[in-house]
Amino acid sequence: MNPRVRFAPSPTGPLHIGGVRTALYNYLFAKKNNGTLLLRIEDTDQTRFVPGAEQYIIEAFQWLGITFDEGVGIGGEYGPYRQSERKALYKPYAEQLVNDGWAYYAFDTPEMLDAKRKEAESQKKTFQYDVNTRMQMCNSLTLSAEEVQERLGRGDAFVVRFKYPENTDIHVHDLIRGEVVINSGLLDDKVLYKSDGMPTYHLANIVDDHLMKITHVIRGEEWLPSAPLHVMLYKAFGWEAPQFAHLPLLLKPDGNGKLSKRDGDRLGFPVFPLQWKDPKSGDISSGYRESGYLPEAVINMLALLGWNPGNDQEIMSMETLIDCFSIDKISKSGAKFSLDKAKWFNHEYIQQKSGEELAPYMLPILEKNNVECNNSYLQNVIELVKDRLNFVNDFWDQAGYFFVAPDAYDPQAVKKRWKEGMGATLQEVMKIIESFEPFDQQKAHDAVMQYIADNELNMGQVLNSLRLAIVGAARGPELFTMINVIGVKEVRNRLDKAIKTIEG
Ligand code: GLU
Repeated sequence: MNPRVRFAPSPTGPLHIGGVRTALYNYLFAKKNNGTLLLRIEDTDQTRFVPGAEQYIIEAFQWLGITFDEGVGIGGEYGPYRQSERKALYKPYAEQLVNDGWAYYAFDTPEMLDAKRKEAESQKKTFQYDVNTRMQMCNSLTLSAEEVQERLGRGDAFVVRFKYPENTDIHVHDLIRGEVVINSGLLDDKVLYKSDGMPTYHLANIVDDHLMKITHVIRGEEWLPSAPLHVMLYKAFGWEAPQFAHLPLLLKPDGNGKLSKRDGDRLGFPVFPLQWKDPKSGDISSGYRESGYLPEAVINMLALLGWNPGNDQEIMSMETLIDCFSIDKISKSGAKFSLDKAKWFNHEYIQQKSGEELAPYMLPILEKNNVECNNSYLQNVIELVKDRLNFVNDFWDQAGYFFVAPDAYDPQAVKKRWKEGMGATLQEVMKIIESFEPFDQQKAHDAVMQYIADNELNMGQVLNSLRLAIVGAARGPELFTMINVIGVKEVRNRLDKAIKTIEG
């Protein structure tokens, strides 16, 4: 049977990169096994709903190149895929559990629950609604059948809670962790459904995974504590449970704890795929896209945070990842995020791309700097500087002088290189360069070198002074290659300007 997997985010804000990794592993698993990946939006908790979050999620996956076969925005035969649009279908399932003795109505008011909590606190305990306490509470296990009907009939607020059987070991078979066993006596009777007509995450998630014929649930480790309840729900419904795989956490760079949004801001890397503007506070959180990462680099880096191909191969395209992916190579222990590694991947992916492929990333940067230029010039420049780029956003820093002539010259470099009479020397050098029409990089180079040798000049000083005139600093690619790209006429203008500025 071809597997069916899902990514099921709740639209409560921007998608954390941990969530992106979960989606990626689901995608790789589906692709590898000729399966189907669906996108389900779990928006039953209206109090946590954040406008724009769903659109953000969809846009993030478009940018990353993770595609879904079914789901929100795509459709499919198991829709609708937004849980709020499926609201009506959950109620009968909640009722079925009550009728079959797997759940019960609870009418405890917030005040009653609070009183219980306080009572427990005064005895230095924490209150849990469970097998030990449920018979002291106000629910369909303690009230008469008539009273329950009366309360339901007059519309009293209620919740439906799961009724764990007493003292039962619950086995969760996890594809990554092996078998996890927990006794039902330790678990609280989770709310499955509320009288406002909304299921909670647990009920909606299980009903939908069943109706959507999900075969493998691949999700973050933070859901492992919910897995025993889910296993029991499948049992209660008499449905076959999917296989579970709980992914290791993404850890802070120093390994101490889960990677949080705050770590990103503190340590200078994004924890979201795209920039996010909080609709309430207006606060901006940085995104990989806006920080100058290539989507391929982000995918490759994330794939290896918690999984490896079984050898030390690191640079892997999406196709290669699909080819090599298997759940049994996912590690049990958390994976430490590393900014250096992220940078390294991005640098590598920039090197793999041609000037033509990178040009679209640079256009907004040129625009921001009010530069217009033709595409072939831009591509040539990119080819010359790309080995200096870790991020797309480094481009202006590394290549701005290709588009705008410098109007200041690094004083230290001037002092070191531009000795007495340098202006006159460079005029001679420039004449040699101009004598080649059309410009011939190799010949111009050789002729200038000959001139320097014949006149017993200091090569480093001459060439670096010319570089200073062109770049404004002692940096940049090979001098004659640079002249070739910038053009002799522009170099002449820059030289005249530099001589005037430096020598007065
Ligand atoms: N809606 C849950 C989330 O936001 C889904 C968890 C699961 O995959 O079961 O992550």
